[in-house]
Amino acid sequence: MAKIQIENCTKSFGELQILKGINLEIASGEFLVLVGPSGCGKSTLLRTLAGLETLDGGDLKVEGKSIAHLEPQDRDMAMVFQNYALYPHMNVAENMGFALKLQKKSKSEIDKSVNEIADLLQISHLLDRKPKELSGGQRQRVALGRALARQTKIILFDEPLSNLDAHLRGQMRVEIKRLHQRLKSTMIYVTHDQMEATTMGDRIAVLKEGRIEQIGTPSEIYHQPKNLFIASFIGSPE
Ligand code: ADP
Ligand code: MG
Repeated sequence: MAKIQIENCTKSFGELQILKGINLEIASGEFLVLVGPSGCGKSTLLRTLAGLETLDGGDLKVEGKSIAHLEPQDRDMAMVFQNYALYPHMNVAENMGFALKLQKKSKSEIDKSVNEIADLLQISHLLDRKPKELSGGQRQRVALGRALARQTKIILFDEPLSNLDAHLRGQMRVEIKRLHQRLKSTMIYVTHDQMEATTMGDRIAVLKEGRIEQIGTPSEIYHQPKNLFIASFIGSPE
């Protein structure tokens, strides 16, 4: 588990300021959902947290220590993307263990972690298969497994289910929450699916034009939206 502090973070691409001073504190073990319109900076925020983009200003802390200048592999975070390209020439077990192999973990450590996570995700029977032999839902499970197998304290999700059909999305939603309870990691989950936001989040943060517009429990956001913009995102109560 890890507490995350995002302090006055700014990021521009060229002339365009995308993050305009983001302040956000995420408790250890919290499941925070981040929502907001397309282009408002959700992916940029996750990518700066993961170290895939550098910040212009502000600081990022985990358990009180700045991580803003650490390399991605030193940040103890894993990220699950919408376009979860698996390595086509590797089987499921190799895909899941690859990051651990890069970290020079021993084969027995890798096997242990891969087997444990495969078991949790109910994909143990698929470990020998290549990605092309899997269905879309199975592939997304493997992508999830690949991130989880690293056993990081923090997991970032960037619209991980948006390529799945509604039925699978519903299943995976439940699955991810179950994993959250089991692994007790701190999770930040970007989505534009209102159901996902309200059913999964301990709290929801609404991002608008590079700033956090409102943050609260799903019930607070739903019943006391600060303005019409928020209401339109979460579905205004009748
Ligand atoms: P969201 O995930 O909320 O849809 P993004 O964080 O992906 O939004 O993008 C926010 C804005 O930043 C968009 O206008 C996007 O075009 C721009 N942007 C994102 N990444 C880059 C980049 N590497 N270079 C230039 N512009 C970028
Ligand atoms: Mg995005």
